[in-house]
Amino acid sequence: MFKKWRLTDRTRTLLTLELAIVLPAAALMGFSIWNLKHLQHSGGFEAAIQRELSHVLKIAEKKTLHRAIELTTPVRTAFPNPDDDHAAIKAGLERVLSEHPEFAYAFLYDKKNNLFLSRTQPRRDHDPQFCATTQETINMASTWIPLEASQYGKKVRAMADKDEDPVGFTGGWSIQDNQRNYWNIAYFVPPGVPKDRTTLGVVAFDDDYLRKNFLPAMMKDVLTSKNNVPEVEANPPVMMIHRSMDSAPWLTSGNWDGANPEAERTFQYIFPDMTLAIKYQGMTVADIGARFLRYNYIVLAALSLFMVAGIFLTYRNVSKEMNLARQKSDFVANVSHELRTPLALIRLYAETLELGRLSAKEKYQEYFRIIREESERLTALINNILDFSRIDAGRKEYEFQETNLGELVHSTLDSYRFQIQQNGFGFEENISPDIPPVNVDREAIARSLLNLVNNALKYSKDQKHIAVKLYRSNGSVKLEVQDRGIGIAANEQEKIFEKFYRCGDPLVHDVKGSGLGLSLVRHIVRAHGGDVLVESVPDKGSKFTIALPLVLTTQPGDAGSAVV
Ligand code: ADP
Repeated sequence: MFKKWRLTDRTRTLLTLELAIVLPAAALMGFSIWNLKHLQHSGGFEAAIQRELSHVLKIAEKKTLHRAIELTTPVRTAFPNPDDDHAAIKAGLERVLSEHPEFAYAFLYDKKNNLFLSRTQPRRDHDPQFCATTQETINMASTWIPLEASQYGKKVRAMADKDEDPVGFTGGWSIQDNQRNYWNIAYFVPPGVPKDRTTLGVVAFDDDYLRKNFLPAMMKDVLTSKNNVPEVEANPPVMMIHRSMDSAPWLTSGNWDGANPEAERTFQYIFPDMTLAIKYQGMTVADIGARFLRYNYIVLAALSLFMVAGIFLTYRNVSKEMNLARQKSDFVANVSHELRTPLALIRLYAETLELGRLSAKEKYQEYFRIIREESERLTALINNILDFSRIDAGRKEYEFQETNLGELVHSTLDSYRFQIQQNGFGFEENISPDIPPVNVDREAIARSLLNLVNNALKYSKDQKHIAVKLYRSNGSVKLEVQDRGIGIAANEQEKIFEKFYRCGDPLVHDVKGSGLGLSLVRHIVRAHGGDVLVESVPDKGSKFTIALPLVLTTQPGDAGSAVV
């Protein structure tokens, strides 16, 4: 009946725990795992990073265009007019070029005046090689520009109408001396030219400038700007530029490591046939995805472990509390019983004595002895309860004083010896003479010893023998109480020191007790810096050993008292 109540109560606690914590938490975990698996299968994470990187490349193109317009605007607005005389036009071209060394050449084409006037970068006039190749390019342009001029002109005028910067860009790849070069021009209508005229101003970025300054600066700007590129620690993003027709790198950001790019973009608004590529150094997006998933799985696993540990701890605590509650109610029943029995006996014998009708003198003696023994038992019980409640409330104080332990043990046993022998017990007392004085609370130690001896008396059946030993061993003093009684099962040997705990043995339940004695003994001994141990074999007997350190751990500075 009792057991059943306990079982259902536990099951109920377990169920509540499961419903309240485990189920939602497990559902959450399951959902997260399902989510991660889904992400893994769909490649969603990789796709998201690739989308971000493509977006970065779009920004890169915008920046490139913006910067190119920024560089051409001052040239465009200061460009000579086709109706000026030739010398003025030439001077004008020379002036804008020398003010802007990033351009290799400039020319002005006008259909109406049949004009094509050009100038190479004056700052490099002393470089014949440069002048020759540049002039060659200009000559080529002079053949095809008249064919395209009308269309280019329309295009930039339309841009102006839309309030955009009226500059067009074109370019392409050429091979010179086995080296791949990118040629380019920026075209516009010079200021003050009427709408019906087919006139174009053209400047071209210097090859070297484009390759060594302009494009590297753009890549650096894009790569180092934290807002653009999604961060992957320890794996910085890297970029390169290649011809749209093949994938061999033409220009790379210094740390490019050669593997396949994650995202690419061919320029649309500037520099045709040029493709931008981006990736993370030393790592593919798939690796990053795998790392992200691994990391998440580890976090989930750790969380699950924490949860399991938490549930285990909670369950253990709840069980403990429930046990304690049960033991407390047992305790109340036991204690009331224990108080009632001696009181009833005392009253019975006292009444008999009061009547004065006893004939034999021995009877008087026996009745008085019973009354004394029962009141002693009452006192011991009440002392235990008082001590326990003080310890439980954290108010127990000890008064340590230098004590001859041998003498204390002997005198404590003396008052008990008679009772022990009366109960038919063989009694052995063995006190070693070499025990130095020890700082102890005399009353507490005496009570511990009495509790142990009392237990030995209570939990013995046929083999009635008690041995008490006091001896010195390795820096401590040991006080042993050994019996040949019912013993304690191995799995209960630690529990008996817990408050209210009483063994499951049916014989124990026939014996009166509160389950407080040993827990008190342990509190007391530990307050002295020592410990109490039990060795026991069921049906053979038990041996309790109190070990007290010879040097007390409590400092004398505590005025000889310690609070537990
Ligand atoms: P109580 O004796 O009042 O029940 P204790 O705290 O002194 O409480 O002991 C706890 C339990 O340990 C006892 O109920 C008993 O089951 C077991 N026990 C203690 N001493 C002995 C012993 N000498 N032999 C066998 N069992 C013992």
